[in-house]
Amino acid sequence: MVTTLRTQGPARPAETFPTLNPATSEVIATFGIFGEDDVAAAVERAHRAASWWADLSWKERRTRLLAWKSYLTRYIGRLAELVHTETGKPLADAELEILLAIVHIDWAARNARKVLGPRRVRSGLVAINQAATLEYQPLGVVGVIGPWNYPVFTPMGSIAYALAAGNAVVFKPSELTPAVADWLVQSFAEVVPEQPVLQLITGDGRTGEFLARSAVSKIAFTGSAATAKKVMAACAENLTPIVAECGGKDALIVAADADLDAAADAAAWGALSNAGQTCVGVERVYVADGVYHSFLEKLIDRMSQVRPGDDREADYGPMTLPGQVDVVERHIADALARGGRAVVGGLASIRKPFVGPVILTEVPEESRAVTEETFGPTVTVAPVADLDEGVRLANASRYGLGSAVFARNKKAGMAAARSLRSGMTAVNSVISFAGVPSLPFGGSGDSGFGRIHGADGLREFARPKSITRQRMKPMVNLTSFSRTDQDMRKLLTLATMLHGRRYK
Ligand code: NDP
Repeated sequence: MVTTLRTQGPARPAETFPTLNPATSEVIATFGIFGEDDVAAAVERAHRAASWWADLSWKERRTRLLAWKSYLTRYIGRLAELVHTETGKPLADAELEILLAIVHIDWAARNARKVLGPRRVRSGLVAINQAATLEYQPLGVVGVIGPWNYPVFTPMGSIAYALAAGNAVVFKPSELTPAVADWLVQSFAEVVPEQPVLQLITGDGRTGEFLARSAVSKIAFTGSAATAKKVMAACAENLTPIVAECGGKDALIVAADADLDAAADAAAWGALSNAGQTCVGVERVYVADGVYHSFLEKLIDRMSQVRPGDDREADYGPMTLPGQVDVVERHIADALARGGRAVVGGLASIRKPFVGPVILTEVPEESRAVTEETFGPTVTVAPVADLDEGVRLANASRYGLGSAVFARNKKAGMAAARSLRSGMTAVNSVISFAGVPSLPFGGSGDSGFGRIHGADGLREFARPKSITRQRMKPMVNLTSFSRTDQDMRKLLTLATMLHGRRYK
């Protein structure tokens, strides 16, 4: 065992489950399975902690969050080792993931007051006697349900922003990555020992469901669209709102004038890094006709050199979720059965728990490898007439999470980016938007709704509070039974002057 970790909270549930190293199946640690009562007790403790946390000043919360960020930065090596062991991803990828999470904690801590703090807003001519104030107050307790593919970065997109907005958090990680989650929660307790502002609850999907049914003020869910529907149904009982970050089927479009070396390099990394288990990973590539063959050659060259494994030199690790290998296999088999060709790898690339790189071409657009999320190190490549056709095919998906465009012409690249119906688009790079903390992150359709990161991400975990304060008597008191017909005529005259002008 790499480490012995205790389960956060006063009482450890009697029933336990192990967490394994996916490359070796070695047991890393065991964790309690939280039942309904355990979850309810954690949420109750969180409500008390939330009052304390919300009563701190913006500055006090900011100082504590920055102290946490500094702790994570100083101990990045230890945490990265644990991420590597529990997910199988290479150590450097684990470090990169944690660094991105650190950038988000920093941004959320430094910007919470500016985005959410009280501000005066214009009250308008009709209500000129009122002083209007807007502020965003914490919701209370946010339940965060996380996935296993980026066990630090992804839940942090909700945790850091929810905490910075003044909420307490109860965190239910995937049953595949409880050790990383426990480390995070314990590290927070090191810098905020006073109250359990961030708590861990562990278990399987049932524990997540108990959290969704509990007295939380909001659920921040990351995972598949199928599970998001179940979580929404559970949340519906208490009318608990939810932000859902689900999967994607991201497309990368290569224009005829694109830097093909850069595009091939980015497509290879976008498709293969983290064994393709990235919600904003590249799964489809559409290439302008004229450069299709040159691009494909370059992509084949790059992807053929990439190797999975659990040694230090491996480019990516094993499939973290054993069942996902079957999905990858089904998608490759379906593509080949419908006339597609594997120009790198193929069904033989599947050597559980590893899957080697696979490039599929001539795959019909209605096959599973094009329409469903594969979440593995495979990519389809297809020629298109131009950027417009690339955009049209990219948009013909029920997902709408991320996308990428490679084009030297700035105007054409930006126009294509705007036309792509995805929450985020990178021009001349891949996934770069995830590292810009001021940009909101989220999707539409089967990719979910709501946003984490940025100012929208902070507001996602706060409730707007509007206040009007009468600073002088109104010229005409409209909200009184003493209002006269003459008062109304004055008002209508004013309204006609302000709003009645004809527009052509
Ligand atoms: P799942 O949907 O299987 O699980 C997500 C989380 O929900 C896990 O913590 C899981 O717990 C929990 N859960 C499962 N069933 C329930 C339930 N009935 N009620 C409440 N919670 C439940 O997804 P994966 O963990 O397999 O993650 C992969 C998916 O997530 C992919 O589709 C991927 O694209 C998407 N994803 C999206 C991201 C984004 O930001 N948009 C980022 C990363 C991944 P347990 O694991 O213990 O079963």
